[in-house]
Amino acid sequence: MIPIKPLANLPTHDVTNMPPHLGDQDLWGGDAVLRECVLREGGGKAEAKFALFGKRMGAVEMFEKADLANRHEPEMKPFDRYGMRINQVAFHPAYHDLMAMAIENEVPNFAWNNPGAGAHVGHAALTYMFSQVEGGVMCPMAMTYAVVPALRGTSSVNEEWLPRLLSTTYDPRDIPVFEKKGVTMGMFMTEKQGGSDVRSNSTKAVPIGTATGMGEAYRLTGHKYFCSAPMSDSFLTLAYSEGGLSCFLVPRWTPDGERNTLYLQRLKDKLGNRSNASSEIELQDTWGVMVGDEGRGIRTIIDMVQGNRYYCAASSAALMRQGFIQALHHTRHRSAFQKMLMQQPLMRNVLADLAIESEAALALTLRIGRAMDEAENDEGASALARIGTAVAKYWVCKRAPGHTLEALECHGGPGYIEDSIMPRLYREAPLNSIWEGSGNVMCLDVLRAMHREEAAIPSVLAELEAARGGNASLDKAIEDLSAELAASEDLELRARRVTELMAITLQGALLVRHAPNAVADAFCASRLGARWTGAYGALPAGVDFDAIIDRATPN
Ligand SMILES: Cc1cc2nc3c(=O)[nH]c(=O)nc-3n(C[C@H](O)[C@H](O)[C@H](O)COP(=O)(O)OP(=O)(O)OC[C@H]3O[C@@H](n4cnc5c(N)ncnc54)[C@H](O)[C@@H]3O)c2cc1C
Repeated sequence: MIPIKPLANLPTHDVTNMPPHLGDQDLWGGDAVLRECVLREGGGKAEAKFALFGKRMGAVEMFEKADLANRHEPEMKPFDRYGMRINQVAFHPAYHDLMAMAIENEVPNFAWNNPGAGAHVGHAALTYMFSQVEGGVMCPMAMTYAVVPALRGTSSVNEEWLPRLLSTTYDPRDIPVFEKKGVTMGMFMTEKQGGSDVRSNSTKAVPIGTATGMGEAYRLTGHKYFCSAPMSDSFLTLAYSEGGLSCFLVPRWTPDGERNTLYLQRLKDKLGNRSNASSEIELQDTWGVMVGDEGRGIRTIIDMVQGNRYYCAASSAALMRQGFIQALHHTRHRSAFQKMLMQQPLMRNVLADLAIESEAALALTLRIGRAMDEAENDEGASALARIGTAVAKYWVCKRAPGHTLEALECHGGPGYIEDSIMPRLYREAPLNSIWEGSGNVMCLDVLRAMHREEAAIPSVLAELEAARGGNASLDKAIEDLSAELAASEDLELRARRVTELMAITLQGALLVRHAPNAVADAFCASRLGARWTGAYGALPAGVDFDAIIDRATPN
């Protein structure tokens, strides 16, 4: 892309002290921490692919498409010109380009197309690079990734949908599945009266024929208050059948090639994530096929939820990384009070603190990715993947909005202006913390994992033990965590405290074992020290700021 050369001399003043355009970013080659973490956690076999993707995805052109897709929001087209129901959503061409970019590069299906070591780690790496540029498209990509395990048990559904979910062809045509080259999938669980509490769902399902249960056809009636990516080819949902709350696949088209009776009511006017459509829908005698066992709907759909939760952690880590890159660029090229901002001691403190948070977020996310990769053959890894996903979803997503705000503030006024990418990142940041299980719900899920899986706590403690002796503050924090876990009273009341301690000790342990001393020491001295308030830029004196910032600087 040829950069636009601006006119620097205006009639009234010369433009000075303004940063140059950031230009193309190399999201893989320029990110030493990402490369290190991916290789360490077993994702090295696809290094060449990641290198190519990182260059393509970080190009200015992609950031421009992301900007366009968010400025020109999706528009609902429920009817055609003759008054016929078509339930369409029209997107800007940039949105389709980004969808094609994601699907052609296996963002939603790398893990399933490349099983074994590095599968989920690689998926997280692709997600991390893509999410730095655009979050809205990642919603259908995350759901398309996450749905695969939920379909596995229902062979008829799996046979039809799986090959198309694993396809690298973006096929946006609104036509029946059997005519499509590739598909995307969404989910709608949330109803008006309950999102976290899905047992309060009121949608009903009645069998079409005499046969009932897994793989059989039903008609669903009810409403869903949130349905993101409503142009997806099908959705998983929950509805009450005679045997209890069950999971159903609801396609846009019925198997006999008719448009399904799925009625888009309106699109949500959202704080952020604006390139992605999120809708309200009604189901009236809508065709659906039962997935999984009757009455075990939550058990079936939870596999999809778990994948989406993992995505949330990876994408929040990505927001931190891109926020840091933008803040670094601005402060490197802007001076105030006779010094470049980046040379001001207090700004160095903020930047270094943002860098260690970002590295800790990525290290934890990719470690959980490896546990997912090893889960099939290793009980400890399976337990760590289960509890660790909830811990990472809670903590990484919880830390992202503050991180993004601080990166925005590094820009001063221009950070608040839409021309910069920062307002978009800022609006995106709270979302991962809300959907797929809001903060409290995630912490309660950590307790659930602790109680239901014997190996859950031992898997966390084993991870921590591997770093014991490496840092006194970490050792003390591990003791604190053990004491919190040993005390059985008021556990629900303390669920955030317990989850936070698990998250920061796991992050500390990973950094102590694998990161340079400068990063690990600063993390432990702040996050695991006595006076940490959570605000950025309060690292103690003695921290090696140069080493931390150099490591995080794109090279
Ligand atoms: C942009 C966007 C897109 C979305 N897309 C989809 C989609 O595609 N499909 C879909 O199904 N849903 C979607 N959702 C819905 C989302 O998953 C829910 O909003 C979320 O799970 C929370 O449910 P709720 O809104 O009913 O809040 P509630 O369940 O009412 O929760 C409100 C608050 O109470 C807390 N809380 C709940 N239970 C407890 C408890 N026992 N103890 C303490 N605190 C508790 C929660 O953590 C939360 O902070 C979307 C939401 C947004 C914002």
